[in-house]
Amino acid sequence: MSGPGRAGVSGGAPVDVAVVGAGLAGLTAARALVATGRSVVVLEARDRVGGRTLNHDLGDGQVVEAGGQFVGPTQNHVLGLAAELGIATYPTWNEGAGVYVHRGRARRFTGDIPPDPLAVPGLGLAMLRMNQLARQVPIDAPWRARSAARWDAQTFATWLRRVTAGTGGLDLVDVFLGSAYGGSAAEASLLFSLHYIAGMGDEHHPGTIERGIGVAGGAQESRFVGGSQRLSTIMAEQLDGRVVLGAPVHAIDQDARSVTVHCGAGSWTARRAVVAVPPALAARITWSPRLPPPQDALFGRLTFGMLMKCEAVYDEPFWRADGLSGQGVFRSGGALCSTFDNTPPSGAPGVLMGFLGGRAWRTWAPRPARDRRDAVLRDFAQVTGRAALRPRAYVEQDWTAEEWTRGGPTAVAPPGALADLGPWRDRPFDRVHWAGAEHANYWNGYLDGAVRSGTDAARAVAALAD
Ligand SMILES: Cc1cc2nc3c(=O)[nH]c(=O)nc-3n(C[C@H](O)[C@H](O)[C@H](O)COP(=O)(O)OP(=O)(O)OC[C@H]3O[C@@H](n4cnc5c(N)ncnc54)[C@H](O)[C@@H]3O)c2cc1C
Repeated sequence: MSGPGRAGVSGGAPVDVAVVGAGLAGLTAARALVATGRSVVVLEARDRVGGRTLNHDLGDGQVVEAGGQFVGPTQNHVLGLAAELGIATYPTWNEGAGVYVHRGRARRFTGDIPPDPLAVPGLGLAMLRMNQLARQVPIDAPWRARSAARWDAQTFATWLRRVTAGTGGLDLVDVFLGSAYGGSAAEASLLFSLHYIAGMGDEHHPGTIERGIGVAGGAQESRFVGGSQRLSTIMAEQLDGRVVLGAPVHAIDQDARSVTVHCGAGSWTARRAVVAVPPALAARITWSPRLPPPQDALFGRLTFGMLMKCEAVYDEPFWRADGLSGQGVFRSGGALCSTFDNTPPSGAPGVLMGFLGGRAWRTWAPRPARDRRDAVLRDFAQVTGRAALRPRAYVEQDWTAEEWTRGGPTAVAPPGALADLGPWRDRPFDRVHWAGAEHANYWNGYLDGAVRSGTDAARAVAALAD
């Protein structure tokens, strides 16, 4: 088998399906189509596969993830794929106390919800209501919810402020959204957020916010041995020369018989295309004929949050001996919104990971790297002690600065997008089908959603007569 290659100068022979994007979604689709006997080419802009998953090499065969990493219950599509590829999972470190930081005070706590006596009752009520309302959202057609128009006319923050009555519950939801949306409840429509929560489950388990925020029993429960990018590197190996790297697609033409995908290195003609890039990037491709205006309008509105992942490496996870989990929640004052123990399964080196997202990203991303590093290390020290100020290495990955992602972790719909334009999210554009985490109903924006969408797109293409 040969791995992915660089683009040639004149494109390639006609294929049954051209896949654009070698993230989890595109590779899953390509792999499924090859299994049905279709000829496939995968065109990838970057010089690597994996998209929003990226392993960072720690040396000595150890890695840590700079992009998507966690997996949990009901995420059976990505877990099933990992099992097929021979990739095991291991539990996220979750022993010991977490630390809650607010107004300069750091307090230990256990469980997923921080011990804020003023904020927690309102938060509890809001979580209960979110789950109840999420059950009223049809998972495959959120715009058909009875209250869709009303819910899509307000932000998630407007609703939360009303339900939590100004007790601080909104701030705690924003801690979660700092990493989950790379933003805040003020940027997202209520309808979008309820659909996102409805998708935190599967066909047999209704989505709940608890499953989204949780470690044990939740979306942060486990990690992939060898790092999540392995899912993509192994699939690309199996695709045996069909993946072309360094091939940013800038134009796609189609007519009644075929679709032609153009990148700097040449053009590929196919019967069908699966475009597996984030919607806002799909809208930047030059389409002939033009994308249907409502689809173009929706994709343009599905912009990404802003997210940077910061990791500090130590000889060992010293905080564990102090009874600390390395999990931190910053309601106020931090550059980070939350932290985790990201130590590899071998137990060394020790790695602390923090999410720097949303408003904090806007504050800190333009600042000098040295200042940002100091602020992040101070946050790690609040959660684990002063030894955190002296890492042996420090790494950060700013997804917003990445040309072929432009934000992270996922696209978040503002008010006014989903209720009217939502039906266009997944609608094929003649010979072009869509895949990507943003095209999933369950675990939208997650690794599992990406795999689901790739499988669904491949199934739809394979079901067509040509
Ligand atoms: C910091 C961060 C943390 C995250 N944490 C988690 C987590 O813990 N758990 C979880 O489940 N999810 C997490 N996610 C989300 C998860 O990583 C993504 O949902 C998933 O990887 C998306 O896969 P995808 O294939 O849909 O898209 P992508 O991974 O974005 O793949 C799209 C591919 O298309 C390529 N491309 C773009 N434009 C073009 C073009 N014009 N021509 C050719 N190629 C193009 C890109 O280079 C990319 O390789 C996180 C994401 C980030 C950024």
